Amino acid sequence: MTAYKDLSKEELLELKKGLEARFEEIKAKGLSLDMSRGKPAADQLNLSMGMMDVLNSSEELTCANGVDCRNYGGLDGIDEAKQLLADMMEVPKDNVIIFGNSSLNVMYDTVARAMTHGVMGSTPWCKLDKVKFLCPVPGYDRHFAITEHFGIEMINIPMTSEGPDMDLVEELVNNDPAVKGIWCVPKYSNPQGITYSDETVFRFANLKPAAEDFRIFWDNAYCVHHLYEDKQDYLLEILMECKKAGNPDMVYKFSSTSKISFPGSGIAAMAASDANLKDIRNMMKVQTIGHDKVNQLRHVRFFKDIHGIVEHMKKHADILRPKFETVLEVLDKELGGLEIGSWIAPRGGYFISFDALDGCAKAIVAKAKEAGVVLTGAGATFPYGKDPHDSNIRIAPSYPTPEELEMAADIFVLSVKLVSIDKILEEK
Ligand code: PMP
Repeated sequence: MTAYKDLSKEELLELKKGLEARFEEIKAKGLSLDMSRGKPAADQLNLSMGMMDVLNSSEELTCANGVDCRNYGGLDGIDEAKQLLADMMEVPKDNVIIFGNSSLNVMYDTVARAMTHGVMGSTPWCKLDKVKFLCPVPGYDRHFAITEHFGIEMINIPMTSEGPDMDLVEELVNNDPAVKGIWCVPKYSNPQGITYSDETVFRFANLKPAAEDFRIFWDNAYCVHHLYEDKQDYLLEILMECKKAGNPDMVYKFSSTSKISFPGSGIAAMAASDANLKDIRNMMKVQTIGHDKVNQLRHVRFFKDIHGIVEHMKKHADILRPKFETVLEVLDKELGGLEIGSWIAPRGGYFISFDALDGCAKAIVAKAKEAGVVLTGAGATFPYGKDPHDSNIRIAPSYPTPEELEMAADIFVLSVKLVSIDKILEEK
């Protein structure tokens, strides 16, 4: 394979002609494929249909400590659900609160509480001149949307293969009291599929924040979402590391069963120190009498315990793995050696992150759309939707069928090639 940049202008123009013809041919098929969000496909949702049968009118709906799940009571979740999610989040059961149907909602509320009432007695963030959050990039657009919504200034932190650039994180967190938080997706990150190294977690736990109310927002959304049984990433458990480092209150951990059972109808949880949870429960009790215990019980009766979740996730992996492999094979075969893009083959999570030549991402996403493939908007993986290099594209292979995916991947690589050729020609 000759790199495109080493081809002559004439060779590139010739190549472009052939690729354009191919593109028009595919475009004429009038496809409509959505690869924009990390949604599980219907066959993945079907894996959890048994959950509809575990509770019925003849079932006992009283949980272990005698609480009737049909009635009020139990602000922070039923014990069995706490145990299930605690095992998944690798923390003691008493350090867990069970919330409602969405962890994103819990993250929003956590920022909102800090804004209006402060964190454990500190000045509410809304009373401060400036509040800043660190945002590892590329990252999850909905995290950035929350901090943008509250007028919090977001600072880009480049990701490395081991997690966020910790030199920069330490410099900012340890010296600037306006830095109040950092968004982290520490395992199979969205969108790169990177898992933070032990060293990174250790450095996080040993931060010396200038702000007493600085918190790490540790969104472990993909904690059990492996693609392979024999190739799995391991993440050091941060709550314990923070405790050992003398920073027991510095982290809020979030997770949910969204991409385990039903997204939007799962259960979400937060894990943190006793002091943090006390602070949160105090405000939570004003907000609600308690979340949906029937759904919590349904999840517990269906999965039984963490082993049930692990077995269930293998079934998800069997559906997802071939989809990831299809996309990765097409990328390797069609783009390998051309030097017009780079990507990471993840071992878990929901995305493949693609870095195009600088200045090409928006045009690639637009080109693919012309042929009916909708990708996540370019720029979405950065705060304020602004990718300074206009380079990163998030590919979400979970939703289309394998056949659709093959076509979508073809359209994607054709779009990358065509836009890159134009870019290189411009610079020749
Ligand atoms: N965090 C991350 C990193 C995600 O990718 C997603 C889903 N795309 C969520 C949170 C949303 O989780 P939930 O459904 O629990 O709100």
